[in-house]
Amino acid sequence: MSAPNLFDKVWDAHTVRTLPGGQTQLLIGLHLIHEVTSPQAFAMLRERDLKVAYPERTVATVDHIIPTDSQLRPLRDSLAEEMMEAIETNCRDFGVRLLSPENGDQGIVHVVGPERGLTQPGMTIVCGDSHTSTHGAFGTIALGIGTSQVAHVLATGTMALAKPKVRKVSVDGELGPGVTAKDVALAIIRHLGVQGGVGYAYEYAGDVFRNMTMEERMTVCNMSIEGGARCGYVCPDETTVEYLRGRDAVPQGEAFEKAAEWWLSLASPEDARYDDEVHLLASEIEPTVTWGINPGQSIGVGGTLPDPAELPEEERFAVEEALTYMDLAPGQKLEGTPIDVAFIGSCTNGRLSDLREAAAVVQAAGGRVPERVRALVVPGSQRVRAAAEAEGLDKIFSEAGFDWRQAGCSMCLAMNPDKLQGRELCASSSNRNFKGRQGSPTGRTLLMSPAMVAAAALAGEVRDVRSVGAAAIA
Ligand code: SF4
Repeated sequence: MSAPNLFDKVWDAHTVRTLPGGQTQLLIGLHLIHEVTSPQAFAMLRERDLKVAYPERTVATVDHIIPTDSQLRPLRDSLAEEMMEAIETNCRDFGVRLLSPENGDQGIVHVVGPERGLTQPGMTIVCGDSHTSTHGAFGTIALGIGTSQVAHVLATGTMALAKPKVRKVSVDGELGPGVTAKDVALAIIRHLGVQGGVGYAYEYAGDVFRNMTMEERMTVCNMSIEGGARCGYVCPDETTVEYLRGRDAVPQGEAFEKAAEWWLSLASPEDARYDDEVHLLASEIEPTVTWGINPGQSIGVGGTLPDPAELPEEERFAVEEALTYMDLAPGQKLEGTPIDVAFIGSCTNGRLSDLREAAAVVQAAGGRVPERVRALVVPGSQRVRAAAEAEGLDKIFSEAGFDWRQAGCSMCLAMNPDKLQGRELCASSSNRNFKGRQGSPTGRTLLMSPAMVAAAALAGEVRDVRSVGAAAIA
């Protein structure tokens, strides 16, 4: 008889009851909220005269709309200022803690949760944002939810959910120089398809994840949703425990050791059961760049773009549509394609290790960002920003011609002034390359690792990081 995996264990531990329709009512351990998907939810609570059931398990931040050039109040954009005021009022009225810019606590919701130790193994975590899957890096069930579900979780501390299947995604062997967690995430999505994960939670396993830092694991889990999975996770191990030790929200002293013991016991055993298993080889993953309009349309940086004429009929339309939108030709190499904008940041790649990796490439490559290229470095949180500045990373970027910004989502979604203009082509460390994602309805996005973005920014065109600074990040 095979044993339960981590997902089964965490699910069972949080099951309140099975609902008449077959769904499970799941207790939610941590509810993260931000300024965009919470106002309506709080309005629903006010309408029904309801309280937040567990304010101590609810934490708010501001990330999507907050500008990254100046965060001085009142914000220049009156709509952004209104949303700031709304979340401040709602948090005050409902007794919810707000990680605010004034206190140096603010940042992207999926960056601040882990960095403060709010995200802990064995939790159920929800947030009104798709990339909540990031928190799965700690061995949690972490789910993005819609606005009405945000209201429901605020009011009850629970939500109704059908249990997904679990697929074990193993990547074994050693990654080559210049190949990062982002490349692993993009390779998995290309291999399984953007719809491949529908109905599944992904358990990431094997040598590559075992050897990753927590920040690298967060990058991969963050992008689970881009492969269609409901969420993704890595089983807790000593790397997880050491990352959490001493963080603000974790237990301290003896209580931490006790918690760590429980966290480690949640890991899937060798004989755990899965609904599906997939194996990839690390040696086959290259520094990767997307060429299309979904994160599954990618190639190794040295490769050539697909030719629709050579594809089965059912695949042709999507490839033709993507190539046309991106102004790219079948058979073309991406390397050498001029870019207009370079963006380093987001909840996928806006952490300290990402900034270090990009700065190392900047130093190794030398030179400056060409005048015609706009290059932004946007830390994922105020703490990341402060830590980067303490190491002098801001100077490395600024001296090379990058714009060093305040913390926020910035150009990942462009619900703030950081936007592409017209048909600009952006080398981006974010997670989505959908049409118009970065603020211009006709803007174009090439997803890649922060190291690759740094290399592209300095060259003014897509570059293979291995040719300019792979040794620096190996
Ligand atoms: S960085 Fe992008 S994906 Fe992440 S929370 Fe912000 S807008 Fe969403």
